[in-house]
Amino acid sequence: MTACPLPALRGPRLALATLLMALAAAAGLTACHGDTEVHAAYMCPMECEGDKRYPEPGTCPVCGMDLVEVQQ
Ligand SMILES: [Zn+2]
Repeated sequence: MTACPLPALRGPRLALATLLMALAAAAGLTACHGDTEVHAAYMCPMECEGDKRYPEPGTCPVCGMDLVEVQQ
């Protein structure tokens, strides 16, 4: 008699796969959430203060020009 054990295993394995997928999705969501935190920076287009960058848009305190956003 050859009773196949697969039907008995299918249930738990499916549950485990579902759990793993849920975990992966949760991890992916967490990673995505971290990625959405954009580290924008602004600096004077004339580079009056060299590489100095500002965390928010505004105008250069030296020349008064609008700060430009730089991608990091
Ligand atoms: Zn400037």
